[in-house]
Amino acid sequence: PTAAPTQTTTASATLLDRASRVIPGGVNSPVRAFRAVGGTPRFIASATGPWLTDADGNRYVDLICSWGPMILGHAHPSVLEAVKDAAAQGFSFGTPSENEVKLAEEIVSRVAPLEQVRLVNSGTEATMSALRLARGYTGRDVVVKFAGCYHGHVDALLASAGSGIATFALPDSAGVPRSSAGETIVLPYNDLGALEAAFAERGHEIAAVITEAAAGNMGVVPPAPGFTEGLRRVTAAHGALLISDEVMTGFRCSASGWLGREGVAPSGAPDLFTFGKVMGGGFPTAAFGGRADVMALLAPQGPVYQAGTLSGNPVASAAGLATLQGCTPDVYERLDTVATAIAGAASEALTAASVPHTVQWAGSMFSVFFRDGEVRDYDDARDQDSAAFRRFFHSMLAQGVHLPPSAFESWFVSASHDDAAVSHVLDALPAAARAAGTP
Ligand code: PMP
Repeated sequence: PTAAPTQTTTASATLLDRASRVIPGGVNSPVRAFRAVGGTPRFIASATGPWLTDADGNRYVDLICSWGPMILGHAHPSVLEAVKDAAAQGFSFGTPSENEVKLAEEIVSRVAPLEQVRLVNSGTEATMSALRLARGYTGRDVVVKFAGCYHGHVDALLASAGSGIATFALPDSAGVPRSSAGETIVLPYNDLGALEAAFAERGHEIAAVITEAAAGNMGVVPPAPGFTEGLRRVTAAHGALLISDEVMTGFRCSASGWLGREGVAPSGAPDLFTFGKVMGGGFPTAAFGGRADVMALLAPQGPVYQAGTLSGNPVASAAGLATLQGCTPDVYERLDTVATAIAGAASEALTAASVPHTVQWAGSMFSVFFRDGEVRDYDDARDQDSAAFRRFFHSMLAQGVHLPPSAFESWFVSASHDDAAVSHVLDALPAAARAAGTP
């Protein structure tokens, strides 16, 4: 047994104090504040491969990976080179440029049903724009989403959302107009009966159903067998569009995303997709796209307006392209190997410490629920021992492993997680499991 390493967090605490004066809560995205787990969020000074180094010089194996984008690991040489080359040519033009064309071509070539994409700056923008397009296309206003799915902080999609909304147990966000929330129907994930009932009642008003291709924002909850097909069948029968949000799963669960991994037939393809995270390689770029006849409604060709000063940014596009090009079959194999090793060892350690838990998967995305039994929807996900997670999280952190600071998030690995990084995680798990089991 190794002695508990001593960690100083003075520099992070000082930065948090400074940050809190000028940034609400000291953070620019809520889950980063550690409110759910307590303690001092680590301010990261640098990162390379699978390792983070914080402002105090502590090192952590990174199991957040920027919430998905860093699939090749931090500061990957080929991506770094592409970014330097692109930046040397200028940062932003506000005119079309070749890098954005290359990135769009790469995305379209990887995702069979995709005909066209438009590049935007965040996953939120992608889902917001996809909704507007679906409403413009159908001439209908109502949107169906599933409880526990998070699609960014779009007004209409914040109802019963996962991620930070789940972490903070917020019912909804203040500041969302009643009219906007009123046009959203929230249904339980993996419940086709509820979907059929909603369409039977209001099908003629529904513009779109939006779903996470595999849910990752209430922890990982894959679609039950037949759920994805059912969504396609019901939406098609009522003339509503199906939007598959692959912001988290896209280019991570497989070379295309979750639907590629699940093996959805072309006839079962959604009308629209949203992407982000991996396709930006750590830079702010995202996309929505789908059938050409739907995409044709976007300005300047059509009447649905959508725009962006930095959209298709040449440096971000270069980072995204280099990242996607780096995502070879070997990379996906390594992700699976690393995820299997870590999840297997976590489960073993928790079992040895008699801590109730369930590991769930979507490709190489996985999460550990601190409860017994399968999690099929948001109600199941919320029914877990978050105090046990908190103890587990802090023990891992103290031993140099940075997990997502919430029980409602996927753990992310990268292809740069080598045997040394994996061993470091495995060594930390038994003590963390014992801590979880010791109230
Ligand atoms: N959709 C999904 C499935 C997501 O996981 C996220 C972010 N975690 C978003 C949309 C929003 O993306 P962004 O944070 O880039 O706005």
